[in-house]
Amino acid sequence: MIRLSGTEVAKHRQEALKARIESFAKKTGRKPGLAVVIVGEDPASQVYVRNKVKTTVALGMESFHFEVPASISQAELVRKVAELNRDPRVDGILVQLPLPKGMNAEEVVESISPNKDPDGLTSGNLGLLMAGRKRVAPCTPWGVMAILEHYKIDIAGKHAVVVGRSNFVGKPMAQLLLEANATVTVCHSKTRDLKSVTRQGDIVVVAAGQARFLGRDAFREGAVVVDVGMHRPSSGDFANKLCGDVRFEEMEGWAHAATPVPGGVGPMTIQMLMENTVRLAELSPS
Ligand code: NAP
Repeated sequence: MIRLSGTEVAKHRQEALKARIESFAKKTGRKPGLAVVIVGEDPASQVYVRNKVKTTVALGMESFHFEVPASISQAELVRKVAELNRDPRVDGILVQLPLPKGMNAEEVVESISPNKDPDGLTSGNLGLLMAGRKRVAPCTPWGVMAILEHYKIDIAGKHAVVVGRSNFVGKPMAQLLLEANATVTVCHSKTRDLKSVTRQGDIVVVAAGQARFLGRDAFREGAVVVDVGMHRPSSGDFANKLCGDVRFEEMEGWAHAATPVPGGVGPMTIQMLMENTVRLAELSPS
């Protein structure tokens, strides 16, 4: 079985990205800039933001980091985003989710200019993706596509099954696979007899957010299995360990290829965030 390593793919793509960043800086006299706004003190969000800032700087980009208290009002947060929308040094704006209770994340995300939306989550960018004119695609599904491309997994004409239909993962994943000429089936919590559907997939992307819920019997022999799930259960065999939606150990000797967790899709999400920021910088008028 081929172990689809997102860690390796991200490492490989970093060199090409660094070259693009250098060439952008030479041409424009400035570095691509990513602004990250963190609201409140959620410890997991703090770790994610620290990693994003570290990666931004390591790649030779400009990092703008704003910590605002959880007591900030929705209107003030939207004003902060509007200020960053106008800042010519900023190419990408990321408001770390989840937001504190009571805040409307959708409204905050929508306040980001689609030209400065490296997560690809504004309706403007999701709409362009649907219309086949994508500016940037959401980082996690875009990272899955990069893994499949790196390992030369054929997509055209294959039956791809996506488990999950969230706006951030499942729906854009299905659209990207469709664009790559797969025949796509999307499953969700109301799908009847889920495994009978996933067993038909040549490529199965699992993004259901259910820890270790699918094993060998959910896939046909020789399938390509991509696990987007990310969990750290508080009890059981995987207590305090990172695991996915798929029981990866059951894929050995059965699947043609599969992503592990950790080391699969996870590392690609941050890589594609950086790539999307650089793309937005390249598209910007400066
Ligand atoms: P989400 O918003 O909770 O969506 C989960 C989707 O899965 C929903 O569409 C839901 O169906 C479906 N679903 C739930 N239980 C199911 C079941 N038993 N059978 C079939 N479908 C089921 O989650 P998300 O934001 O898309 O994220 C999915 C997973 O990916 C999570 O584990 C998350 O932590 C992980 N994730 C990882 C990364 C990364 O960098 N690796 C990035 C983002 C997310 P309904 O629509 O019917 O409710």
